[in-house]
Amino acid sequence: MLPRRAKPFYGRHPWVYAGAIAGIDGAPADGDVVDLFSHEENFIARGLYNSQSNIRVRLYAWSADAPLDADFFRGRIQAAIRLRDALPGWNGPGRACRLIFSEGDGLSGLTVDRYDRWLVVQFTALALARRRDLLAELLTDLLQPEGIYLRTERGIGELEGIELQDGPLCGQTPQEPIAIDEAGIRFLVNLALGQKTGFYLDQRENRRAVARLAAGRRVLDAFCYSGGFALHAARAGATSVLGVDASEPALTLAQENARLNELRNLSFVRADVFSQLQALHGAGERFGMIILDPPKFARARNALEEALRGYRRLQIQALRLLERDGILVSCCCSGLITMSMLEDLLAQLASEERRDIQIIERRGQAPDHPVMATCPESDYLKCLISRVG
Ligand code: SAH
Repeated sequence: MLPRRAKPFYGRHPWVYAGAIAGIDGAPADGDVVDLFSHEENFIARGLYNSQSNIRVRLYAWSADAPLDADFFRGRIQAAIRLRDALPGWNGPGRACRLIFSEGDGLSGLTVDRYDRWLVVQFTALALARRRDLLAELLTDLLQPEGIYLRTERGIGELEGIELQDGPLCGQTPQEPIAIDEAGIRFLVNLALGQKTGFYLDQRENRRAVARLAAGRRVLDAFCYSGGFALHAARAGATSVLGVDASEPALTLAQENARLNELRNLSFVRADVFSQLQALHGAGERFGMIILDPPKFARARNALEEALRGYRRLQIQALRLLERDGILVSCCCSGLITMSMLEDLLAQLASEERRDIQIIERRGQAPDHPVMATCPESDYLKCLISRVG
C-alpha cells in the first residue's frame, strides 16, 4: 500500500484500485490469493488478484488466519443463506430471492438469485469466475437446486477479463419460464432470456409499499418490465393500470403475468417512456399515481450530469401528468446518484413546477440485498414515494 492509501482497507472496504498499490512481491497470477500490507508492512487483509481489472484486488478476509479456501467460501455462502432464512417467506420453494449479493454478503463479484428450485449465478470478478466449479459444488451441496444457470453481465468481459457465456453451470435448464410467488402474485421468470437474472428482486418491498397507496387510482407504471409494480397496483384496487416499456419480450411477459393472475384492469404499451409521457400529456390524460423505475442512467462518474438531466426530465413529465393529491414514485438504481441528490431534485422541481411535493416514504433495496456498512457502493437503490399537491 502507498502511505496514506490504506485507510479504506482498514475500514473493510473490499476494492483495492491499482493506484493505491505501491508494489507487488512475487508474480501473482490472475485469480491468485494475495495479502495486502501497509507501507509499514502490517497485514491488512486477504484478497484475490486480477491484473486485468481496475479493481486490482478484491478483499474478502481481514484476518491473517483465514485462508481463502473451500471452507471459507462455504462459510460465507452459509451465512448468506442464514440471513435469507431469517426473513420469513423469502427463501423456499416457489419463492424468489437474492441469496448472495456480492459485496453486501462479503463475496465481492458473486451474485446468486434463487427462483423456486433454480439458481442463477452472475460473476463480476474474474477470480470467482475461475472458481465457478467449486462455487457451483458448494451451492449444490448446500441447496440441492434443480439446476444452476449462468448469466453474464453486459460489459463485464472488458472490465474484468472474464470470458464466460450464458448457459447451464450444472444440473437441468428449465425449458419454460418458471413461476414465482411474490406476496400472493405470480410472476413468470425467464432465467435464460429475461433482463438481469430474470426479475427485479430488489424492488420487492417497494412494490408492496406502492400497492398500499394504489386503491382507487389510475396508475401509470413507466419502465414496467414484466409488470412488477403494475400487477401489485392492479391487485390492490387501482381503477386501471397502464404499463409502458420499450422491450417487446418484457411486455409479452407482463401480459402473460396479468393473465396468470386473472387481473383485467391492466394494459401495456410498447414505447419510449419519454415520448409516451409527452403524448399522454398532449392527449390530456391524467393519472392518480405514476411510478418511474428507469434503468441506470449513470454508469460512469462523467455521465452523472447527463443522468441527472434524464431524471429531471422524467420527473417533470410525470408531475405534469399527475392529478392533485397524486402519488409520485421516483426510483433510481444508479449508485452514483444519492438519496439526497434525488431529494434536492424534487425540491427544485416543486418550486419550478409550483407543486407541493411531500415525501412520505424514503425506501431502498429489499433486505435480501443487504448493504454492507463498510461498502457504500452496495447501497444503490432509492425509492421516494411522494404526495403531490
Ligand atoms: N419496474 C420493473 C423494472 C424496470 S427495469 C420491475 O419492477 O420489474 C427498467 C426497464 O426499462 C426495462 O424493462 C427496460 O426495457 C425499460 N426501458 C429502458 N429504457 C426505456 C425507455 N427509454 N423507454 C421505455 N422503457 C425503457
